[in-house]
Amino acid sequence: MGGSHSLAGRSGMRRLYSVVPLCCAIVLSCRTPTEPDPPAKYVAGQSYFGRNGYIEYVAGNAPVILTASHGGTLMPSEIPDRTEAACRGTTTAGRDLNTAELVREMQQKYFLRFGRYPHVVISNLARVKLDPNRTNPEAACGDAEAEIAYREWHEFIDEARSIVLASSGKGWYMDMHGHNHPVQRLELGYLIASSQLDLSDAALDANRALQDTSSVRTVSESDPISFSAFVRGPASLGTLYANNGFRSIPSTADPRPNGELYFSGGDNTRRHTCGAEANGLGGMTGGRICGVQIEANFTGVRDNEANRDRFADVTARVLEQYLFVHWGLQLGASPPA
Ligand SMILES: [Zn+2]
Repeated sequence: MGGSHSLAGRSGMRRLYSVVPLCCAIVLSCRTPTEPDPPAKYVAGQSYFGRNGYIEYVAGNAPVILTASHGGTLMPSEIPDRTEAACRGTTTAGRDLNTAELVREMQQKYFLRFGRYPHVVISNLARVKLDPNRTNPEAACGDAEAEIAYREWHEFIDEARSIVLASSGKGWYMDMHGHNHPVQRLELGYLIASSQLDLSDAALDANRALQDTSSVRTVSESDPISFSAFVRGPASLGTLYANNGFRSIPSTADPRPNGELYFSGGDNTRRHTCGAEANGLGGMTGGRICGVQIEANFTGVRDNEANRDRFADVTARVLEQYLFVHWGLQLGASPPA
């Protein structure tokens, strides 16, 4: 929708340019009846880069935002490696292999299906230089250049969120990662800790704070089904993925971690979705962009181009169902069948 709006703005401007000089030659204090729209800042489908190409934003015009925090490979010497001493805490430097490639493929498959581009933000920096899924000092470890890239990372996502809200009124955020846990499945992180996800459905539904903190707060509040059904019932995102060949937790078949390793979502998800912690990080608690962190297993999802293709295609189809059923958010030209 941003794209068609900008085209109208540009043609409107051309029309005014051709009319104004003649008009002003006749009437000295002539004013145009309406101001033209400013030219669009971004063209959907094109890449824009922050300083030195460290952060990349592929502009979009769909209500979906995809980010890859840990897939970058750039190792510039101007940024020292992140160390525990510099970061004043623990540092994790491992790369999430092929996750930048994965979000690019997800963008392509989404465009093929819906004719619109999701927004994509990628950190091209190796994680040993910047961890955008952490808050400072752990993220940039006090380095000025890494700090610029960190700021640009969030600014690009904020920009994408503004465009989504202006054009669709609501949207969906997915921060894509890769895990190497023993159980091969997608780990969907809604900011519900393992111990909380281990609760019974009744206990999960009885504690309103869990829904308030979750990354799907606003969607699940507007949905008549229970919170537990929303996150692991037959119509949950995990079950939709599982029904399409990608085993997932939480879902009907894998409702709770039960002692297995599980990632529940990181700082990008806290800041850029709609849960209770968003306000404190510069985001919007109770806002109209919700989402999830997906930690993908390697084999069968991100290990080769054919599997990344398959996952990307399934994601477009699954999101079409999921966002329409739970939120009335229509991704295609007509409601999903
Ligand atoms: Zn990661």
